Amino acid sequence: MPKILINELKQEISSFNPFLCQYTDWVTLAGPAVLTFHEGLGTEVAGALAVFAQHPELELIGGYSARAITSGGTLADAAFAQLAEEFLSAVRANLDVDAIYFCLHGACAAQTIHDCEGYLLAETRKIVGERVPIVTSLDLHGILTDEILTHSDAVVLYHTYPHVDFFETGERSARLLLRILSGEVQPVSVRIPIPALVRGSELKTATGRWGECVRAAIAFENGPAASPAACSSETLSRMSPTSSPMSFW
Ligand SMILES: [Zn+2]
Repeated sequence: MPKILINELKQEISSFNPFLCQYTDWVTLAGPAVLTFHEGLGTEVAGALAVFAQHPELELIGGYSARAITSGGTLADAAFAQLAEEFLSAVRANLDVDAIYFCLHGACAAQTIHDCEGYLLAETRKIVGERVPIVTSLDLHGILTDEILTHSDAVVLYHTYPHVDFFETGERSARLLLRILSGEVQPVSVRIPIPALVRGSELKTATGRWGECVRAAIAFENGPAASPAACSSETLSRMSPTSSPMSFW
């Protein structure tokens, strides 16, 4: 029975905010409560759970969840150290898992570690090695770093701003993770900088120019061998199949 670990840590910080974000600004859960909390919600984890629920052969492991009460200032080092230790403890406690889904944001930064998500992924790799596939979902306003790309088997992003596709992003993440787990695909990610600087209403994916980038990326999904996601940090991800052409996440 394949085991899938689900961990979550989400915050978007603003370095212009002069107040450091503290550990007490977060709500945390551990163990099975991570799964029950999301039941019936429209979150990424709920979307992933909906897909996993269609596969009764899976054993789902609730690992850890940390959600910031709101967006805040830079995360205090001590706060991130505690959050990271709790996050990684859940990984260490479940070394027998077959796959991991991480629900992250991509714009969390502490005082001295400016890529919190990349740090968590790199540390997770040290624990589980390359054997365990990791699919990471991010906000499309996340900053897609080398660390995130290197240590995730695949990165799945929101397609909408304002964000209305949390659930669907989780569904896409889960479907992709299952395809990796079955050996159907072996994702390869590349970053393709797009010479665009968008802001304000142009970021709205339904009406703004950023939406054109997202739709162009999604259009690749109907192509033979690419599965892109558009990130406002100027990123496309691409996945190559192990066998015949296929549809993508
Ligand atoms: Zn966002």
